[in-house]
Order: sequence, then C-alpha cells, then structure tokens
Amino acid sequence: MTRQPNKNISTEKIIEEFAIRRASITKLAIFAGIISGAAMLLLYVGVASNVVTAILLAAVFIAAAFINIKLWRCPACNGHLGKLYLGLKGPKFCPACGIKLST
Ligand SMILES: [Zn+2]
Repeated sequence: MTRQPNKNISTEKIIEEFAIRRASITKLAIFAGIISGAAMLLLYVGVASNVVTAILLAAVFIAAAFINIKLWRCPACNGHLGKLYLGLKGPKFCPACGIKLST
C-alpha cells in the first residue's frame, strides 16, 4: 500500500465504478481478439500481406496497452491495477491503496 484512497468516494461508488471499468476492459479485450483473429484470417486467405497483418496486430497491441494504462486504474486512488485482470478470479482489493473493489 503506497497510495491513499480518496475518502470522498463511497465504497458503493468505488465498487460500481470498478465493475464498469472491468466490463469495459473485457469488451475491449474481446474486440481486440476479434480484430487479431480477423487479421490472421485475412493473412491466411491471402487478402492481407504480412506487412498489413503485422501493422494491424501491432496497432491492436499498442491500443490494448494504452487502454490498459489509462482505464485499468483504481477508482479511489487512481493507482494502476497491474496484472489483477489476468486470471478468472476478479480482484477484491486495490494493490496500491488496499481499498475494497468488489464484493
Ligand atoms: Zn487504490
């Protein structure tokens, strides 16, 4: 715990906001997966060249990293939530301030 959570936000609001952010990340991850899959398919059927596919995959990767840095943050302290999203089990507490994120 290195950060102090914002005490002006209620626990309910934090849990709600965290759920919204997590859902957004999930949707974006699915979208990125579809784009990547489509790029690979286009390469496979010969519509897109290696270069086009590589640019598409790089763009998806950069966008995913950017969105992760921007959005994957604690609603209370704005600390980055790191690799908490990985794994099926949802994070319960912020690694930066220790606030409760989900019930
Ligand atoms: Zn936090």
